[in-house]
Amino acid sequence: MADKKDYYQLLGVGKSSSSDEIKKAYRKLAMKWHPDRNPGNAEAERTFKELSEAYEVLSDDKKRRQYDQFGHDGLKSSFGPGGFDFQRDFTHAADLQDILGSIFGGGGLGDLFGGGGRRRSSNGPQRGADLRFDLEIEFEEAAFGSRREIALPLTEECGKCKGSGVKPGRSRETCRHCGGRGAVVSGGGFFQVRQTCPVCGGAGSIVTSPCSDCGGSGRVKARSRITLKIPQGVETGSRLRLAGKGEGGSRGGPPGDLYVVIHVAPHDVFERRDDDLFCKIPIPAHVAALGGDIEAPTTDGFAKLKIAPGTETGKVFRLRGKGMTNVEGYGRGDLHVQVIVEPPAHLNSRQKKILKEFAETVEAGNYPLAEKARERAQAFFEKKQAIRQK
Ligand SMILES: [Zn+2]
Ligand SMILES: [Zn+2]
Repeated sequence: MADKKDYYQLLGVGKSSSSDEIKKAYRKLAMKWHPDRNPGNAEAERTFKELSEAYEVLSDDKKRRQYDQFGHDGLKSSFGPGGFDFQRDFTHAADLQDILGSIFGGGGLGDLFGGGGRRRSSNGPQRGADLRFDLEIEFEEAAFGSRREIALPLTEECGKCKGSGVKPGRSRETCRHCGGRGAVVSGGGFFQVRQTCPVCGGAGSIVTSPCSDCGGSGRVKARSRITLKIPQGVETGSRLRLAGKGEGGSRGGPPGDLYVVIHVAPHDVFERRDDDLFCKIPIPAHVAALGGDIEAPTTDGFAKLKIAPGTETGKVFRLRGKGMTNVEGYGRGDLHVQVIVEPPAHLNSRQKKILKEFAETVEAGNYPLAEKARERAQAFFEKKQAIRQK
């Protein structure tokens, strides 16, 4: 090992470099020397391995200290007498996959360094998974807030076997497929593929006498009932996070979180955009003509709306502060009420007579929209006449 290169020199960094600088330097060089970028180039492959070794040591506080104090000899306990073995000792598969992803567009190489990084955590405490629960609520619940009891399907550690999956009194047996190593190696040359053992899933051992309650999985289905407080003002897409209400952890790990994603069902009366509400209300034609008061629905009840004589269909009234309550407490939006003029239907003979009498009195200025529309059409015909045609 006399001619082993200095790790700092290999990466081109100083002895006092931060872990960020070291990572950056490694990424840059690994990108350059990666064997997939230099097919058939033995020097690139050797350099790449040296760089990876240097990175493995300098990115690990403990190994870096050993190296700083005792040089290459200090690492014998970490790498064994044969020294660093890329397949066995390189634990930064994830960092490398980042780099590979940026070169090769991700994917494809996912299992290349499979066992190395991940295997280590598989026997320690594991945090439970975060759960997503989609909940459809009524508009009214969003407008005023509510409480809901929801039943979450989830799995938890089996009580009978304490999560081991093994029938009480029996134990796990060494996996014969991988000889207890948890990983299998296939392929040849530098790119031997190390994969998590498909038989034991990386655990190195298997359950031969499964627990009767969980069938060997160590987890059982459970239903957890949670009372959920739906805050006033939530909207479609709002996420409510319930810390610790996700899947249970395993081997003493903490549970994950629960995210409830809100979907507000469409409503017959109100439509929401941001914190504003919109509604359309028909008003009787005679009110539109003569003016008068009508009642418009708001989330607080009916509100009186003054209709001026000659109000056209489509006119929007804005009621300030009558919209939705902002979920983060920034007050309320506005309510936009659009009126639609409704012609009277099912007229009796007296009403027909009155309307006919009215019709006979119609004069210029009674129907300004119709008059304006006619004028515009007229202008169009005049221009049509005026242009020179071939
Ligand atoms: Zn069990
Ligand atoms: Zn196995």
